[in-house]
Amino acid sequence: MQQLIRCINCNEVYLKTPFDTLPQYDTSSQPFETIEKDDYRDFLQSHRGHRLEDLSIIEDSFVSEKDYIEPVKATYFRATNGKERFVIKKSRERIDEPLKYEVISGDYSLTCLSVSIQSKDIEKQLAAEFKNKPLSKEKVNAFIKTCQRIAETADLRNLERACEESPNPLEMYYKMDEVSLVTLRRNCRHLFEAKKYSDMEAFIQREKEDGVLLLKAKYGIQFSEIKSSEQKPRPSVIRLEEKRIREKR
Ligand SMILES: [Zn+2]
Repeated sequence: MQQLIRCINCNEVYLKTPFDTLPQYDTSSQPFETIEKDDYRDFLQSHRGHRLEDLSIIEDSFVSEKDYIEPVKATYFRATNGKERFVIKKSRERIDEPLKYEVISGDYSLTCLSVSIQSKDIEKQLAAEFKNKPLSKEKVNAFIKTCQRIAETADLRNLERACEESPNPLEMYYKMDEVSLVTLRRNCRHLFEAKKYSDMEAFIQREKEDGVLLLKAKYGIQFSEIKSSEQKPRPSVIRLEEKRIREKR
């Protein structure tokens, strides 16, 4: 449905969508005025005689610092023409602005900033499940401390991503690995007497896959410059709407 087109001459990109030709309504006048628009035609006009190519978007390459539902943000993703790879920045500064796409020089990678546990949720879940025979505050704290210790020493490369979705693309959930779970159970055996221990073991079993025992990793986006003689960075911001308006004046 979507097609990413790059002008080779200008190193500018355009995302062609089925919505390019939808009319806009100017509600400031009564009765409404319909403004015909065709952003793709405008793009073709400004790049007349230039060489254009199709880029395919590389799946799972999208990164952004803001939550998925945040409409005003910058998102980065990779695209390729089969030979070269490009980093595209998709952004808008105001909610009423159209999204703009630009090719940026350099590349990005994700680095893990921290791995933490969901201590508040663990506490709440323990309180709910042991409602009739509450655990002492000391036991709860000791259990949480053990989980924290496991998170601090966990090596993400050995952990499996959980299906649990975070609202933020830079936050990801991981399952504790077998070694971590054995450590946790062993510590519980010391902490709790027999009956409580089997309850705690059942709790771990229930929460390890998609519950409060998932570890939360926070990532940061790191940008790196590519010093390439081929890639000449130049302002390549396409603001078709503004351009069109200017041209009309
Ligand atoms: Zn061009």
